[in-house]
Amino acid sequence: MNFDNQHVVVAGGAGFVGGHLVRSLLALGARVTVLDNFHTGPCDKFASVSSSELQVIEHDICDKIDLSFDLVMNLACPASPEHYQADPLQTWRSSVVGTMNLVELAASQDARMVHCSTSEVYGDPLVHPQPETYLGNVSCTGPRACYDEGKRAAETFLLDMFRERHVDVRIARLFNTYGPEMALNDGRVVSNFVVQALQGKALTVFGDGNQTRSFCYVADTVDGLLQLAYGRGLQGQVMNLGNPDERSVLEIARIISDLTGQPLETVQMAAAVDDPRRRCPDITRATERLGWAPRTSLRDGLSLTIDEFRSRITRG
Ligand code: UDP
Repeated sequence: MNFDNQHVVVAGGAGFVGGHLVRSLLALGARVTVLDNFHTGPCDKFASVSSSELQVIEHDICDKIDLSFDLVMNLACPASPEHYQADPLQTWRSSVVGTMNLVELAASQDARMVHCSTSEVYGDPLVHPQPETYLGNVSCTGPRACYDEGKRAAETFLLDMFRERHVDVRIARLFNTYGPEMALNDGRVVSNFVVQALQGKALTVFGDGNQTRSFCYVADTVDGLLQLAYGRGLQGQVMNLGNPDERSVLEIARIISDLTGQPLETVQMAAAVDDPRRRCPDITRATERLGWAPRTSLRDGLSLTIDEFRSRITRG
């Protein structure tokens, strides 16, 4: 796989997954332009990248922009419930208006678009594990709806653009992704537990802790996104990208306390509203069509994550 002579725009490239993706694209020969409004953090991501092939532009995709490119990859939307619920109107606008702007731009120049959607399109699933054909069980009025329904509306628009205007769009539904360089204040369970354990604090378990998620190491997620962007004959495809290794929140707490060498101490907090009880991807489609499957075990991925968090926390 190489992206030589390709100009790739990464919207949301200064975010957690975006940062990893941008570095991989550069390593694979792409010229990369990052578009980011720096909503979830300042742009010190690329301080160590000395490449004339990288350009970073402060820009909110809700506003139109004129750019030419071969491929646009859209990761521009906060993905942590704490962050996307802090400004639900902006979350909706980024998901819907921002995606519409990018796909219109791709359509105007016959470029390809890879869009990051989410497992949240399945809501609190009644089918388990979740294949792409499952239609979901989503609240359209609750506090998660700005994200869940925003991402669902974006998928609708993108697939209409594929059917009506033949734009080469490809949609990845990302399940929970974790790894080095998540913001320390990201608010999601892995980063919260790692920071709390390294600071010797009790781990905050929301609800009874028996709810499950399936955690995919970021390098595996990025590999899946690149395969989806690169492969032939994938226009109009929707694909789950996640690790089917399903764990409860309490199991995650136990593993993180073990790997950090901290005695397990938890404090129970109120359950999040509309929190999905179970979530696990069926990745048959990605395996069959991309030859993709995650390779990093949860313990290995968490060890790498903890090491990187530890060095950041020690540096202050
Ligand atoms: N959670 C938790 N403690 C935390 C943060 C999250 O118990 O400090 C729970 C949360 O309620 C959910 C699960 O962990 O059940 C995953 O939450 P996260 O915010 O990581 O991602 P989500 O899959 O909900 O978007």
